[in-house]
Amino acid sequence: MSSTIYLSSPHMGGTEEAYVKEAFDTNWIAPLGPNVNGFEAALSNYLGHQKEVAALSSGTAALHLALALLEVGSGDEVMCQSMTFAASANPIIYQGANPVFVDSEPATWNMCPNHLEAAITDRLKQGKRPKAVIAVHLYGMPCKIDDIRNLCKTYDIPLIEDAAEALGSTYQGVPCGTFGDFGVLSFNGNKIITTSGGGALVCASEAEKQKAVFLATQARDEAPHYQHSVLGYNYRLSNIAAGIGRGQMEVLDTHIGLRQQMNQFYKEQFFGWEGIEVFTEPNESFVSNHWLSCITIDKKKTGFSAEELRKAFGEDNIEARPLWKPMHLQPLYENAPYYGGTVAQTLFENGLCLPSGSNLTDTERSRIAAVIRQFR
Ligand SMILES: *Cc1c(COP(=O)(O)O)cnc(C)c1O
Repeated sequence: MSSTIYLSSPHMGGTEEAYVKEAFDTNWIAPLGPNVNGFEAALSNYLGHQKEVAALSSGTAALHLALALLEVGSGDEVMCQSMTFAASANPIIYQGANPVFVDSEPATWNMCPNHLEAAITDRLKQGKRPKAVIAVHLYGMPCKIDDIRNLCKTYDIPLIEDAAEALGSTYQGVPCGTFGDFGVLSFNGNKIITTSGGGALVCASEAEKQKAVFLATQARDEAPHYQHSVLGYNYRLSNIAAGIGRGQMEVLDTHIGLRQQMNQFYKEQFFGWEGIEVFTEPNESFVSNHWLSCITIDKKKTGFSAEELRKAFGEDNIEARPLWKPMHLQPLYENAPYYGGTVAQTLFENGLCLPSGSNLTDTERSRIAAVIRQFR
């Protein structure tokens, strides 16, 4: 059996081990140290726009802290894009709050501003003021962030930007992760850069970053003993993992270029194929890092479904995966309010994520192309 081709596998640049070794040599084997500071500085420098970054143990932790810092609590409502990974929504429940899910629009597959506004006005009519909006940049594609941000301003609701999949993506030249009151990044093993596991909270000021770090380190008050006035968490990134992150930052832009080339590769593979669309930026305002390349298949036109193509890939040990199953269709969230139609559901039923790593070889690309050719 030929070796497995993954959807997205870690791709080290080469300097990561030196940073990790430095952590060993200096005995900074802890959730603080020079690599944590260096990684935060690299991220904050990369994002620009005077953002301060807190390095955390995961993207999920970053989302949780964003909600905690916005004082989302028991019985509150939070608007969340339905089509996303469960980690976007689960922290709402951690805070004892309730998610209200919103459909996607077809151009970016992300939160539909029209449905969001309908949802906000309807909740307001019911006397429930949403405490936050969580918008996601799925697969690296920027959402319609200016429309969403304007709505949040109009209705005075804080915006959390889940940019876990979108480090390096931009909207009108501005990096994803810097639009919201808080931005969330992830460095899990399959993301565009990885620290094996990790995440970050992008904050608007040094004071907010300090609050995030305070909550992430068990919320210790200033005292010689352990004194606590508020609930804290153990969410800081380790100095070892941060060393990997520092090395990864040095190759981020190169790796984004390679992922964008994978997207180009799929555009060529499916060129002129009626019924298949490669997920692409709607116009030049949007620049995706193309973390994952995705397609939608109209079975009526192609004669085969996304699931049939997925299985054919599987037979050659090539990983392909359905799109995120919308949260309003998940058993966990079946009772949550939902605003929208069937855009997210239709995408889920007809879409497929394809191998997109920055480290795929020519041989591996040929194997992928050979499976696709079987369907021509
Ligand atoms: C990966 C991911 C997260 C969570 O990040 P972790 O670091 O895995 O906790 C959140 N939202 C989205 C959209 C993601 O893809």
